[in-house]
This record gives sequence, structure tokens and C-alpha cells, in this order.
Amino acid sequence: MKPKRLESELQDVGTFSHPKQNLEQYATTPALATKVLHLAAVEFGDIEDKSVIDLGVGTGVLAIGAKLMGAGHVLGLDVDMDALSECKENLEMYEPELEVELVLMDVIELIRRYDDYDEEESDESDDDDDNNNGDGKRKDYVWPKADTVVTNPPFGTRRKGADVAFLAAAMKMADTAVYSFHKTSTREYIQKVATKKLGAKSAKVVAEMKYGLKNQYGHHRKDEVEVFVDVWRIQPTCKMKRDGNNDEDEIFEQNLRELAANIEELQLSARERKDKHRSKNSNKNEEY
Ligand code: SAH
Repeated sequence: MKPKRLESELQDVGTFSHPKQNLEQYATTPALATKVLHLAAVEFGDIEDKSVIDLGVGTGVLAIGAKLMGAGHVLGLDVDMDALSECKENLEMYEPELEVELVLMDVIELIRRYDDYDEEESDESDDDDDNNNGDGKRKDYVWPKADTVVTNPPFGTRRKGADVAFLAAAMKMADTAVYSFHKTSTREYIQKVATKKLGAKSAKVVAEMKYGLKNQYGHHRKDEVEVFVDVWRIQPTCKMKRDGNNDEDEIFEQNLRELAANIEELQLSARERKDKHRSKNSNKNEEY
């Protein structure tokens, strides 16, 4: 399908009717979805006849676009039931209805659970720097798998570390390639995380985009905020493929555990900052 046609086919895909701020729900525009999917399909051969997972499917523009570009089985995962039902409505709009499997799933929780993370236990042992993750009890977890994973993840603005948690999950799920959107300001960091921590075979920025985020939430002062975004194509290493039970696998699992611990640390320090801020403000109030 030519880009113009794809873009016009995506015009009527409904976006979040009540976007949830804590989940960073921003729909990809038809123009951007077209740009990314066309690149993935034509330049890299990652869409046609390939199985695709859309991580954080939202109302479905990327999953729908992939299907229209000739993908095989498409699976959309999201933590928000409202988004999934809006996505379902969008799929039903097409004639014949587009087949995309939708599953309610908390991707961040999955990374934690895989790591057998226990919040209470971990909080207690924070001081002695004990590594609580033990022996990764959930190594038996069977991840959903696809040739290609596409994701416009939360950027981690509301929930620290969400972007990396998504990336880690995407790399567990993809056999061939991950397409993931990240703020350009985090380029170096993403490069390091993808290649060093998650052991990617390659990680390249394949497109740069600028998008105007409409003020759909109250906290933006301006009507529209411009955000520079990189589209990454990341090839996970072969060691992440289905079975392999070798040393490299061990290293990867270890890295993943560390990463999950880092995500927790980030969240924790964000919480602490907030608490401090709050107590400072209440002290101020007492002074007056
Ligand atoms: N893919 C869609 C939506 C992107 S917005 C599009 O491109 O238009 C990010 C999506 O991630 C939202 O739908 C949000 O509900 C979902 N999300 C946020 N946190 C999540 C989590 N922990 N697990 C799964 N999905 C999550």
C-alpha cells in the first residue's frame, strides 16, 4: 500500500476520548504512523507477512497500519481497558473488520514480575543494598513473541523508567526487530541501554520526528508543546530467541534484573523527591 493511501486509511482511526495522564496516552498521528510503518515495511521488510506486537496499543493506529500493510498475526497489548475497547471499535470500522488480537496486560508489571520483584521486601532491604532478586524465580515466564514489535511507549515523564521498561519488554518479545519511539533528548541513554544493558545486536535511529503534543491535559501551559522524537530500529540478539539456555542467556537475564532494579530506584527517588517537596511546602505553610 502506498504511503498516501495508508495515511488516508488511518485518518478515521479514533483517538483516546478520555486520555489518561498517568498512562501518557498520546495517539500517534496518521502521518507519523505512516512514516514509521512504511519505513519498517519497505526499507526493512519487517511488516509484510510478519507477526507484529504493538506494545501499548492504545486506540490502535500502529496495529491497524501494520495490518493494512500486510502483517500476519497482530497482537495489541495495553493496560487500559478503555483504550482496548476504543481500539476494538476502530477495528470494527473497517470492512471487513480487521483482525487484531487484543490483550489486557501491564507491561511494566510484567518486567517486574518476571524479575519476581517484591515491593515490600525490596523497600526493607534498601539500606543494606541487598540484591533481592534472588535467582530470578520466574525464568519460566513465556513471553508473547512476534517477528516485529512496534511501540510508542510512555516517555517516562509521568512514571520514571516506563520508557526503558517498555523497551526491555519489547526486546524480550521481538525475534527480529523493535521499532520504538523515544525523546531525542534521551538518545545517548537509549543507545547505551539498548546495546550495553539489553544486549542489542544493533540500535539505530531510523527516523526523526517532531510532534506537536496538543494540550489534552491541564498541566501544559501552552496549547501545544513540540517534542523531538527518534524512531529506533533495534535488533535484539539471537540469544533472546525462544529457547537457548546458554551463558549469554544468563548474562541477559542478569542485565534485565539490574535494569528492573534501576527502574525501581528511579521510581523510588521520584517518590522521595515528591515527599520532600510536599513536606517543604507544608513547613512553609507553618511559617506563615
Ligand atoms: N500505540 C498507541 C498509543 C500510544 S500512547 C498510538 O501510537 O497511538 C501509550 C500507550 O501505552 C497508551 O495506550 C497507554 O495506555 C499504554 N500504557 C501505559 N502504561 C502501560 C503499561 N504499564 N502497560 C501497558 N500499556 C501501557
